[in-house]
Order: sequence, then C-alpha cells, then structure tokens
Amino acid sequence: RAKAAGGNRFERADPEADARAITRHGLTNALPAALDRGEFFIEYQPLVHLGDGSVHGAEALVRWCHPQHGVLGPDRFIPLAEHTGLIVPLGRWVLQEAVRQARFWSSRHADGGPLRINVNLSPTQLHHPGLVADTVDVLERSGLEPGALCLEVTESALIGADDDLLKPLRQLAEMGVDIALDDFGTGYSNLANLRRLPVSVLKLDRSFTRGMQTEPADPVDLKIVEGIVSLAHSLELAVTVEGVETGAQAEQLRRIGCDTAQGWYYARPGAPDRIHSLALSDAV
Ligand code: C2E
Ligand code: MG
Ligand code: MG
Ligand code: MG
Repeated sequence: RAKAAGGNRFERADPEADARAITRHGLTNALPAALDRGEFFIEYQPLVHLGDGSVHGAEALVRWCHPQHGVLGPDRFIPLAEHTGLIVPLGRWVLQEAVRQARFWSSRHADGGPLRINVNLSPTQLHHPGLVADTVDVLERSGLEPGALCLEVTESALIGADDDLLKPLRQLAEMGVDIALDDFGTGYSNLANLRRLPVSVLKLDRSFTRGMQTEPADPVDLKIVEGIVSLAHSLELAVTVEGVETGAQAEQLRRIGCDTAQGWYYARPGAPDRIHSLALSDAV
C-alpha cells in the first residue's frame, strides 16, 4: 500500500485497509469451495407493471451465505469472482437456478402467462465463448421459453463494444431472449449508440428515481426521465425503473409512461415462494 502511494517510507500503516485486503484475499480464496459446497443462494425481487401493479417477473440477485461472515451481498464478492474468473461457473449456476425457478413458477401460473426472469451478466461472462451455448442448454433443459428470459448487461460493459462482443448478444436476441441495459444513465454511452445494441429494455438507474421521492418531484429529474422514456419508446425499447421506494415515485413514473418498476415500495428481494404468491394473488 505504501508502495502504491509512491514508496513513502514514512507513510503510516492503515490497519483498516489492511484488514479489508485480508478479508478480500480470504473471500477470493474461499469462492471456489463455496460454489462446490452450495453456499450461494438467490433472492428474487419482483418487477411490476406500472399500469396495473401486476407482477411481470423477477430479477435474480445472488447472495453468499458465508460460514463466518454471514450473508454477503453481491457487491462484496462479484468483483472478486470477476477478477478470478470464477464468475463464469458462478454465473452459469445462477442462470440455471433462476431459469429452473422461473419454469416452476410458469407451470403453476399458466393462465397469467409466463413470469419473466431477469439474470445479471457481468463483463467476463459476456466475453466468455460459452455464453450462447450455455444459455441455450439451460433453456432447453428447463423447458422455459427463451422469451421469458431477460439478460441484464450494464451500460458500462457495452461502452465501445465491438461487433465481436455484440455477436453473442445478437444471437441470443434472435432466439427471443430479451437483453436489458442495466444501470442505464450511469455510464457515458452515447444515446445514438443505443440503436446499434441488441437491447430491448432500458433499466433506468436508481439515481434518476431518487429525485422523485418528493412531492412535487424535482422538475429537472422529471424532465430527464421524460426525455429518456420518450427516446426509448421511439426506439421500441421498454423502460424499467429501479429503486422505487415510495408511492409518489411510482405514480410519477407511471404518469411519465415507464413500463415496469422494481423497488422496495413493491418488495425487497426475497425467497422465491413470495414471487409465486404475489403473482398468483394478482391472477385472481
Ligand atoms: P442491479 O442489477 O442494479 O440490482 C439492483 C440492486 O438494487 C440490488 O442490489 C437490489 O437489492 C437493489 N434494490 C432494489 N430495489 C431497491 C430500492 O428500492 N432501493 C434501494 N436502495 N436498493 C434497491 P443487490 O442485490 O445488492 O445487487 C447489487 C448488484 O450486484 C446488482 O445490481 C448486480 O449488478 C449485481 N448482481 C447481483 N446478482 C448478480 C449475479 O447473479 N451475477 C452478476 N454478474 N451480478 C449480480
Ligand atoms: Mg440488474
Ligand atoms: Mg440495475
Ligand atoms: Mg443499479
């Protein structure tokens, strides 16, 4: 650490930073065995139609039940798994598990149409040559229709993406899998660039909805979201908003014409049964 700071021999040690580095190191080393031991689990957060409040589907969010540290959120270990490449088998497990769950919901929810399942993909997974084959395999084995799967890719992962990187996403999109641009608005992508990407959904980052927690909403935030929604719709993209925490936000976003929403106002991420019962309760 002192070296990174320019080799100043008199720099004071930072015990907290050292402790964090040790923890990171320990977590990184423990990842492969954790996958073998089944220490990962998935919580599901509903995606809701803003128009009528019905459940559209759910996003799969991975957690690690660590024997010493307790339940760890993805921000603690996804970057480590990315760095070591373990994200490939871990991501494959998440996909398989989430798709299997979605297939189960659909079998119990036949009249309401299939519940959709959103799964996050990290940049390393995008670059991995097995992505298309793995996805096809998971879909075929589960029997879930490709149109019920949405893969979320962050805007920053696609910045400057060339055709080689976009090709697998195009193949998946041609099969009917939806591709969503996650955390939209936090990267620096050129809006005109959107036309080039095989995406069908924009997920507006939580930072935009924050200005709508108040009544009246922040007028500038409102204008920005209105602009993005109308642009997205003119490009035939659906708009999902993240981080909806209040009824006032939900109402504003509905008025603006956003399609679906996700956030604590509706439900926190939780066990799969809850998605199922929420969907069944609005089917009656
Ligand atoms: P994300 O894909 O943008 O997921 C949304 C995050 O916002 C989730 O955090 C969710 O719990 C949180 N959230 C949802 N509603 C609200 C709200 O109303 N208010 C607030 N303050 N937060 C809300 P989480 O579960 O900690 O996940 C963080 C990130 O980790 C995700 O961001 C995603 O990028 C990544 N991630 C999660 N699961 C996976 C996975 O299986 N694979 C990969 N590659 N990344 C994953
Ligand atoms: Mg996501
Ligand atoms: Mg997101
Ligand atoms: Mg986000």
